[in-house]
Amino acid sequence: MTLIDGRAVAARHKAEIARETRALVARGVTPGLAVIIVGDDPASRVYVNNKKKDCAHCGLLSEEYALPDDCAQEELLTLIHTLNRRADIHGILVQLPLPAHLDEKAVLPAIDPAKDVDAFHPYNVGRIMIGDFDLVPCTPAGVMALLDAYGIEVRGRSCVVVGRSNIVGKPQAMLLLHRHGTVTLCHSRTENLADVTRRADILVAAVGKAGLITGDMVKEGAVVIDVAMNRGPDGRLVGDVRFDEAAARASHITPVPGGVGPMTRVMLLRNTLTAARRQCFPDEVCP
Ligand code: NAP
Repeated sequence: MTLIDGRAVAARHKAEIARETRALVARGVTPGLAVIIVGDDPASRVYVNNKKKDCAHCGLLSEEYALPDDCAQEELLTLIHTLNRRADIHGILVQLPLPAHLDEKAVLPAIDPAKDVDAFHPYNVGRIMIGDFDLVPCTPAGVMALLDAYGIEVRGRSCVVVGRSNIVGKPQAMLLLHRHGTVTLCHSRTENLADVTRRADILVAAVGKAGLITGDMVKEGAVVIDVAMNRGPDGRLVGDVRFDEAAARASHITPVPGGVGPMTRVMLLRNTLTAARRQCFPDEVCP
């Protein structure tokens, strides 16, 4: 069994992103990311701080806009429109979840799709659907990068994604499909979940229920990717997969923490770099 080391893979990606950023800076462009946080949700605060730290580490510019919990939707939209017009800001991210009085469905589409580094804008969602995209939701992109890092072939294999959220499960299924996986997308109404997961050569768990995926739900030799981040009763971070049981059957498995999480962070930097290149050097073919 191979333990998939997300921290090590993320460190390699970060080094590459730092190198590419230096090359862009030498051409007069510093990739810039604006992060908007509304309210004082402690988890969101940690995520935003990490994003700023990652940008600084790799040489990207980051700006934080902290709005009060009771800010009006108009105020948030005005800020987004201002950032849309700024030539030195290439990526805009609104930290989710938003307070209940703000309408995510109105806020996310206000971001210029070219600057939508979370890739949650309906335009970018559509591009992912048709397989013609350059900005990809960070978590599914991170999962794909982990598969690549370990030389795991997707083509022709049975891929089961558990969880169908717009930010993880659905785009994950699409990315696997574009790599020619045979994809099954499961959710809370899936009948006989264990029968489905047992057919998976590649199993991606993205539900948010600790212990949902037990060892007997894993096919012998499967690749098991645990996206979830749940707080256990002792406060420790755990995934959806019962790690020890699944590891006894898997060929590859991600730990939680230290698996998908670090890759999600790094993919935001990658998207910001891609967005900066597209905006500043539109005639160049970007990787
Ligand atoms: P979400 O929006 O709550 O979606 C959860 C999905 O799980 C839904 O599609 C739901 O089905 C499905 N589900 C619920 N109970 C189920 C069951 N018993 N059997 C099968 N499917 C079930 O969650 P999310 O935002 O996608 O996040 C999922 C997990 O990933 C969370 O733990 C989150 O913290 C974690 N996460 C991690 C990262 C990272 O960087 N590692 C990034 C993002 C999210 P229905 O659609 O039928 O309700």
